[in-house]
Amino acid sequence: MFIPEEKISEILNTSDIVDIVSESVILKKSGQNFFGLCPFHSEKTPSFSVNPAKQIFYCFGCSAGGNAISYVMKYHGLSFVETVKMLARKYNVVVETRQLDPSKRRELALKESLFTLNKQVMAYYYRLLKQNTKAAGARDYLEKRGITKETVDQFHLGYAMDQWDGVVTFFKKEKIGRQAAVKSGLVLPRKQSSGFYDRFRNRVMFPIFDINMQVAGFGGRVMDDQMPKYMNSPETPVYSKSRILYGLHAAKQYCRKTGTVHIVEGYFDFLSLFQNGIKNTVASLGTALTSEHVRILKGYASTMVLVFDSDAAGINAAKRSIKIFMKEGVDTRILVLPEGDDPDTYVVNHGPEAFLDLVSRAKSVMQFLLKVAMDTHGLSVEGRIRILDDMRPHLADIQDSALRSLHIRELAETLNIDERAVLEKVKEQVVQAQPGPGFVPDNTDDQLLASDPREKQLISLMLHCPDIIPEVQNSGVVECFYSQRLCGIAKIIAGADPHQKAFVNHIMAKMEQDKDRQLIASLAMTEGPGEETDLRNTAISIINRIIRIKKRKENTLTTKIIRAEKGCEADVMELLKLKQQEIRQLHGGQ
Ligand SMILES: [Zn+2]
Repeated sequence: MFIPEEKISEILNTSDIVDIVSESVILKKSGQNFFGLCPFHSEKTPSFSVNPAKQIFYCFGCSAGGNAISYVMKYHGLSFVETVKMLARKYNVVVETRQLDPSKRRELALKESLFTLNKQVMAYYYRLLKQNTKAAGARDYLEKRGITKETVDQFHLGYAMDQWDGVVTFFKKEKIGRQAAVKSGLVLPRKQSSGFYDRFRNRVMFPIFDINMQVAGFGGRVMDDQMPKYMNSPETPVYSKSRILYGLHAAKQYCRKTGTVHIVEGYFDFLSLFQNGIKNTVASLGTALTSEHVRILKGYASTMVLVFDSDAAGINAAKRSIKIFMKEGVDTRILVLPEGDDPDTYVVNHGPEAFLDLVSRAKSVMQFLLKVAMDTHGLSVEGRIRILDDMRPHLADIQDSALRSLHIRELAETLNIDERAVLEKVKEQVVQAQPGPGFVPDNTDDQLLASDPREKQLISLMLHCPDIIPEVQNSGVVECFYSQRLCGIAKIIAGADPHQKAFVNHIMAKMEQDKDRQLIASLAMTEGPGEETDLRNTAISIINRIIRIKKRKENTLTTKIIRAEKGCEADVMELLKLKQQEIRQLHGGQ
């Protein structure tokens, strides 16, 4: 372990899992636990629970589970050390990471230096926009597009000079190392000679913040009709376009408050809406929306309004995105703006109320798809057949059967086709459909554990009632466990201090494997042995049974060995079979 154990304990003691999970999941209290939609699998009804007393989380749907540290690791895709550092910073715990292994330390240092470098470059671009005489055109451009000074300041907009070595010179002056400079994606190596040149030239610059307010990357827009109109940072160790949504750092609190998020495409769409008071907005920056985007947004809003232009590109983008939103089971609305408008021009020309009025009349996904199909094929006999063909995969995608039959009836009525005929078509589709690559819960552990329910039961008892731990230790029962894996887990629990606050949480910190933490979470969150039963007696009886079974097994084995030695061939075979079983069990239990 690279970080001293007492530091991890300190972090676990000062952090609060409800707080941490609340940053990304909407939680509602129910009994002792909080429930919300799981960020790790697609679902419509909450099966993701957080227990504040034990400081752990567990999903009854996909079995993800753990403590605050494992949550942050899983959710943000961070390493253990990165997570501990992040939480330490958040809760003011001083952590030394000197013993970190060299490659990890380099990786961590690189990320930190990229964030610092991006921040410096953001300030550099911002200064140019504000002060440089050569940025007059950029200032005019922003003014013409209706961007106020306050918006420029709040989102730290900037300007990249019309030259090849602006950032290159800036890096030299600031003594930025070659590696960080290249990895930042802000400069590129020259093709003909040595040295570097600027990626962004003569563009208005938009820093892109991550959810923690760190500058992850940049976008730049030309001020005339040159192509490409927009350009974004490439993927870097701190910028991943499949996770980042422009403006979410500023919009998240408003999304929470309203329960709704508007998803637009471009920088100006976002800035215009935000500036006009429609602050629960994010921009996808023209990249295809991913399940990751949707899952991140689910932590802030339950209704998502996809706003598109009415041109063919807009409609196609809408159709592409819909599948992902449907799969994630969120309430999705599609708003196609009147012809010739984008969100920016619409809100500027008609005002925020008119925009919100459009939002309130936004179509459901099915209504939208039907309209697109009708516009494409028309309502001739042939057209209606084609519409039905277009619609059936979408209908088949609806998981909720009641909802599906409602839509089928609606479609049948609209097209004036017999409802049973529509139903038949959809059924064909359902049969054809391949099972998607969705989340498959890992059941292998459960199968393994089915063979030793008592050992699992004893572990569960220790978690629910740490007082019995001395009993477990004195009996030596753990050594008699049949499953190696459960034996390892039980040893860790039996070796822990039973009087520790949030005991389960601290046990998890000692587990090396994520699947072991998940098992602990599932045992601790599922109904315990019941409050009334005498836990101590239950424990003692389980302990005795495990020991007895072990002894009996040993005895049978010994007898068989003795008889085998005397030349009884049947016993030799039996012995070999038992041995084989045991070996299989040990390997499976690793
Ligand atoms: Zn889940």
